[in-house]
Amino acid sequence: MRISRLFSPTPIARDRALPQEHCLEGQAAHYLQHVLRSRPDDELVIFDGLGGEFQARVLAHKRHTTIVELLSHLAEDRATEHPFRLGLALLRGDRMDYALRKATELGVTHIQLLRTERCEVNPSGSKLDKRLQHWRGVTYSACEQCGLNLPPELSAPCSLAQWLSHSMQGCKLVLHPTGRPGVLTGSSATARPNGFVLATGPEGGFSEQEMAMFEEQGFLAWSLGPRILRAETAPIVALAIAQHWTGELG
Ligand code: SAM
Repeated sequence: MRISRLFSPTPIARDRALPQEHCLEGQAAHYLQHVLRSRPDDELVIFDGLGGEFQARVLAHKRHTTIVELLSHLAEDRATEHPFRLGLALLRGDRMDYALRKATELGVTHIQLLRTERCEVNPSGSKLDKRLQHWRGVTYSACEQCGLNLPPELSAPCSLAQWLSHSMQGCKLVLHPTGRPGVLTGSSATARPNGFVLATGPEGGFSEQEMAMFEEQGFLAWSLGPRILRAETAPIVALAIAQHWTGELG
């Protein structure tokens, strides 16, 4: 029987001996009670994003919470060794969810949402708060599925200029159809970077001015071939190539 993995937004105390009781609430409790219809003694794995995972068993369901007993801890994160930052232009609806889910599965460590000139969506205020909560939930759900115990940090949207004003280490790449193919081969193949910073554009692409901003900050424009990929496809292809190049994907 597949043992379910659940993210606990409530941090788990590390200074208390195991076994210890832990209270799951919100979506986790709802999932256990109404989707899995779990019963006492059912096994599960709990992670809180602070490192590793806990083998646990259901103790009791309450009205809106479920009490579990944490039995043992496994200090395994299945995370990418090197920092992998993704600058992701805001996308519509499901496309955003798809890009966030796949980027999480592929080991991105930090996602900076970007408001670029040609973004077709530009949520703000309470609408943005709700979207950020939903998007963070998408990354947690992707972690539950893929076994990653350290969800990527997801930063609220900022302008491209703001993002580029931060000093970022590693191999800096911006996806653009007119870029160079194979930026990860040839001479650069020898110097394994101490991380990646990858920027990918909205459905309308990056403007010439934005590409000039990237170039000023030392980003290499990277072409993923002769066809125009969808905005949610391109980052996944690039991440897979980069993670294969580092050896992470075998
Ligand atoms: N007409 C737009 C352009 O010229 O950039 C197409 C935008 S495409 C639908 C959305 C984003 O996916 C682009 O901003 C780029 O980051 C990435 N992308 C799509 N196809 C690509 C390719 N062949 N090479 C590199 N990046 C690509």
